[in-house]
Amino acid sequence: MPQHSEKSFVATTTCWYCTETSDELLLDTRMRDILTSGLCYNMNPCGKCKDLMDQGVIFISMRDGEGELMEEEQKEYDRKVLTRYGAQTENWRRKNVRPFIPNPCRTGGWVVLKDEAVKRIVKTASLLEWILRHRFALIEDAAWKQLFGCAPGSGEEGHEEEKEETDGAV
Ligand SMILES: [Zn+2]
Repeated sequence: MPQHSEKSFVATTTCWYCTETSDELLLDTRMRDILTSGLCYNMNPCGKCKDLMDQGVIFISMRDGEGELMEEEQKEYDRKVLTRYGAQTENWRRKNVRPFIPNPCRTGGWVVLKDEAVKRIVKTASLLEWILRHRFALIEDAAWKQLFGCAPGSGEEGHEEEKEETDGAV
């Protein structure tokens, strides 16, 4: 983490998924000193996470109840965007508005599961479709224990799937 938070026209960014410094730099095209280094500016994965997302889906644990809070925040964000810019297409929004960045209280669980394993454990079709498209899932602790049979961050997650998958892989 950078020691100083002086503003500059160029800034290092933090990867939302792994919370480490990303290889992506942010540049203000008008060269104004308005950017602070070390913040999470978007949902772009760093190189390492992008590689992992090509191979599977990143599961991140969060405190029970955070899902609902996040939904509220997202609604509030959508309302603000609508008030300010009116109805716009998703494409327009992606180009012109800073994205909604969920910031739940994380609890340390972080695993990558192959798509086949995700299909086995996520039974709700719409949820499965969303997860496979976005390549990540935020899971509350209680649901995490149900999915993996252990507490988040205990290191036991996905071991069984890992073995099964490597046998038949490639
Ligand atoms: Zn990352």
